[in-house]
Amino acid sequence: MTVKIRAIRGFRDIPPEEAFRLQDIEVRARKHFERYGYHEIRLPVVEATELFARAIGETTDIVEKEMYTFADRNGQSITLRPEGTASAVRAYLQGGWKSRGGITKIYYSGPMFRYERPQKGRYRQFYQMGLEALGGGGPLVDAEVIELLHRLFELLEINDIRILVNSLGCGECRPSFRGELMEFLERTSDELCSVCKKRIKANPLRVLDCKVPSCIEALKDSPVMLDFLCPDCETHFDRVTEALNGLEVRYEVDPRIVRGLDYYNRTAFEAVCERLGAQNAVAAGGRYDGLASELGGDVPGIGFAIGMERLNQIVDWENRTISPPDYYIAAATPGARVPALNIAGILRGYGYCVEIDLEDRSLKAQLRSANKFNIRSVVIMGDEELERGVLKLKDFDNKTQVELSMDELIQNAANRSRSSKGDA
Ligand code: ATP
Ligand code: MG
Repeated sequence: MTVKIRAIRGFRDIPPEEAFRLQDIEVRARKHFERYGYHEIRLPVVEATELFARAIGETTDIVEKEMYTFADRNGQSITLRPEGTASAVRAYLQGGWKSRGGITKIYYSGPMFRYERPQKGRYRQFYQMGLEALGGGGPLVDAEVIELLHRLFELLEINDIRILVNSLGCGECRPSFRGELMEFLERTSDELCSVCKKRIKANPLRVLDCKVPSCIEALKDSPVMLDFLCPDCETHFDRVTEALNGLEVRYEVDPRIVRGLDYYNRTAFEAVCERLGAQNAVAAGGRYDGLASELGGDVPGIGFAIGMERLNQIVDWENRTISPPDYYIAAATPGARVPALNIAGILRGYGYCVEIDLEDRSLKAQLRSANKFNIRSVVIMGDEELERGVLKLKDFDNKTQVELSMDELIQNAANRSRSSKGDA
């Protein structure tokens, strides 16, 4: 059917079959994050444009060309959030949460907006779950964050994800690396793509991140940050990897992982899955001890964000689909319509999913529906049953049909509810 008004480019509906899966992952991830002491924070979907310009950095793809920026009715420049970290740090500073002491562990889940070229695995509205640990600068924080991400993939039974880890050094040691890298890039600039050529001066670290095959080839022998780490950064990195080894987290050290901004420092990591094809990054994260100072505060932090659509794509959904309702309540006569609704309400109160006809259709049509929904238990009631205070219960699994009193049905449901739906 051609509808008059369609969703705009890069924005899409998530139909129930897909929303069900995203929700399933989200529920499991929330529980997982909470076991590590993270609590949900709900952040605004729009922020002052300046927040992202400062927190993400003027020379990133996001700020250079991907932001949804508008003037509101007062002429203030506002932006649909392209990511969650900037808002999380802002909220921490604005709320004065430093006074609580210790490490503040928060997670978020929701839509992000980027003006990108829509393609497979890339949308203009997409969903992320992410978390931030604010107030702890030590290597064990990094190790726990990476371990948590690794265990999430385990929990979701995804075995072919690679976690790539690197160190970006700090304000002490990065400048000398940057200098060497810039020299190397200038020497090899003939072999670099036009975008990389432009970045040599503005942001040489970003060149390391280029996905163009000829650039990857040209950068094979480039200097790497790990060879330039100052003693403190080296100790930090060693302790992170030591802890990951002790925790038996599978990871690979990959010197190509960068963030390309001065306030990202030390640990940076990415989770990739080859099954995703070109857009193979499922999650990305890192330490950003200098970010808060861009917003007028001071707090060390580390976090990551997971792309939910991409995560959904690599979960094996073989045995996880929307389950059919538990009961279908069929009314055999007009007088049984409202009593049938009543029974449905009672069963729903016990936690069951109940389907019922709301269109006064014939009994035959109702049974056809029950069959179509693949509902295993069908309750049938008509005037005659009502008069005797009974109901028919057809059980398609046991291929039985019994007559029960209303109380027996409810008791039956209550018992089942306690045994099988006890965790609902
Ligand atoms: P990419 O290299 O794919 O552009 P990115 O570096 O821009 O990723 P981050 O800002 O680190 O991505 O976001 C974390 C995760 O969010 C990514 O690893 C990816 O899974 C997901 N993501 C980012 N942009 C999009 C998008 N436009 N559509 C769907 N998922 C996205
Ligand atoms: Mg991107």
